[in-house]
Amino acid sequence: MPPSITRPFQSRPFQILVVEDSPEYALIVRQWLEEGDLAQVTLASDAMQGRAAFPTRDWDLVITDIEMPGGNGLELIQEVKAAHRWTCVLVMTGVVNAEYARTAVQNDADGMLFKPFAKEVFLEQVRKLAQLTRQRRQKERRSVLAVGAHPDDVEIGCGGTLSMHAARQDEVTILTLSHGAQGGDARIRAREAHAAAELLQARLILADLHDTMVPEGGASIELIEEAIAQIQPTDLYTHSQHDTHQDHRNTYRATMVAARSIANVYCYQPPSATVEFRPGLFIDISDHMQRKLQAIEAYSSQTALRAYLAPDLIVATARYWGRFAGYVMAEPLEVIRQRGR
Ligand SMILES: [Zn+2]
Repeated sequence: MPPSITRPFQSRPFQILVVEDSPEYALIVRQWLEEGDLAQVTLASDAMQGRAAFPTRDWDLVITDIEMPGGNGLELIQEVKAAHRWTCVLVMTGVVNAEYARTAVQNDADGMLFKPFAKEVFLEQVRKLAQLTRQRRQKERRSVLAVGAHPDDVEIGCGGTLSMHAARQDEVTILTLSHGAQGGDARIRAREAHAAAELLQARLILADLHDTMVPEGGASIELIEEAIAQIQPTDLYTHSQHDTHQDHRNTYRATMVAARSIANVYCYQPPSATVEFRPGLFIDISDHMQRKLQAIEAYSSQTALRAYLAPDLIVATARYWGRFAGYVMAEPLEVIRQRGR
């Protein structure tokens, strides 16, 4: 069974990061926010702590003071927006200063409150902005599912594209249908698959179908449908039908059935692709080759045995395909469906 994945529900409490150096304000604000389960609050007592806490969660709102030890709250806004452009930032300050207000607007702050403020005014802003974050996140964040028959298929076929998605803060999941036990020790390959997924900032669902006997129907379709139900992908990547390996072709067929309602479906090129593989889309992975190579390197039990994992071949392949689109390096994709990208 693949691990279950928690989906966001509008009714769950807002996740709010409060960056505030005044302990009394921090405590009052926290008390207001936690009343009636409106929010779960994490407090950071200066900009540095705020910076450290930011990557740990998908915040619905960041509330920050301006003047604090260890850095300015106005700079924090820029950092938050650079990391998650949809996350709203509410600035609260005791200093009425036109320059601050101008900088806050320039840095895309979503709201500003001057201390002291009334509880109702504060909570109204919080509700509005936290809800806005959730709406923007839902609209802007793509959810990506890459399906492969064996560990390393996805990394070779579309590792650069997945790294590109991760860099854009899209939600990336890899579904690998077998442990690849015919190619090596299943436990070692599972460990390697997890390490590779982590490098691509992807979640891994590692299923346990029989390597070399991955079916085109039944269990394969069920696994893919289950992953799709959990992830609701906007974009799906899978094997091409133009492939000499039966597991790859069967994974393609099973995916085509399971993914019939997904807007964007693409097929990547593994080393076993035939000359019929005919891409119609090229993804610029020039900035992501390093990460792709690292992910492939994570399969160290295989890299010595399999010539197709050699870094120079991976790079040469990307260089070759890059020329079709004017990129230095590209991953080629066959387009099954593209209704919005
Ligand atoms: Zn494979």
